[in-house]
Amino acid sequence: KNSGRSRYTYFSESMDQLLSRRQEMEGDMRAALKTGNEFQVHYQPIISALDHRVKGYEALLRWEHPKFGSISPELFIPIAEETGMIEAVGEFVLREACKAAAKWSGKSVAVNVSGVELRDEGYAAKVRKILLSTGLSPQALELEVTETVATDEASAVVANLDALRAIGVQIAIDDFGTGFSSLGRLRTLNVDRIKIDRSFVQGFGEKAGDEAIIRAIVELAHARGLKTTAEGVETSLQDAGLVKIGCDSLQGFLYSKPVPLRDIEHISTPAGSP
Ligand code: C2E
Ligand code: CA
Ligand code: CA
Ligand code: CA
Repeated sequence: KNSGRSRYTYFSESMDQLLSRRQEMEGDMRAALKTGNEFQVHYQPIISALDHRVKGYEALLRWEHPKFGSISPELFIPIAEETGMIEAVGEFVLREACKAAAKWSGKSVAVNVSGVELRDEGYAAKVRKILLSTGLSPQALELEVTETVATDEASAVVANLDALRAIGVQIAIDDFGTGFSSLGRLRTLNVDRIKIDRSFVQGFGEKAGDEAIIRAIVELAHARGLKTTAEGVETSLQDAGLVKIGCDSLQGFLYSKPVPLRDIEHISTPAGSP
């Protein structure tokens, strides 16, 4: 049929465009990784719920593409994972973050780690090497993994997480609540911190169910001796509610967006304090 053929043509053309755009991006990423110029690590403060002081930062990668402009990590990280470039990308972020954090006194840094990286048997050794060469104490490094990765039973993943925790590196579960595992899974997870996904935080004060979920996560986490961080805090109403529930740390645009390293000095000490 005619319409069928034209639809097919349209489909194949847009697939071609998509593919070539992706291939272009892939090639550009490879080149950008060599120079390192287009990649930049930004830092978002993590606030203590006790006194609202900055206690650390999360490292978030930025790619400033000369033609496409700023490309979201939600888009380029999956490409890096599928093409084997994630190892180089992850190493770049980790080294930059550890180098930066080694100069902050008493503040920690959190780095996102892909499951692909953790499936590499040499990952824990690589982290250790970077800690040694940058002089950062393992206790000042927190690695954020998703629920899926934390519950991955692949032997390399388990061995890497165990080895990292054994030297004092903290492990956090990112985006908690969005995965497939149940709340009960919290009882068996071998981690130090839970980061409550911002989708629950956003419903705070609006959707009673979200508040109940946060309450349950914090209670279960504390019963197991785990710390909690609420992500995506945008309003002072959310801030007040999360403090009341007993979340340990807070993160979100209310306090600061992720900023380049050179801008950190301006927010590391709350205005008015010495
Ligand atoms: P994530 O780890 O959940 O990081 C939090 C994301 O939420 C960041 O987006 C941050 O800019 C954004 N955010 C922070 N506070 C707020 C808020 O109050 N409201 C809203 N609406 N958003 C907020 P970003 O930087 O675009 O990163 C997206 C995702 O890309 C990250 O989600 C993480 O999964 C991934 N990613 C970023 N950098 C890296 C990296 O170096 N390695 C790996 N493997 N993944 C990374
Ligand atoms: Ca994260
Ligand atoms: Ca998150
Ligand atoms: Ca996320």
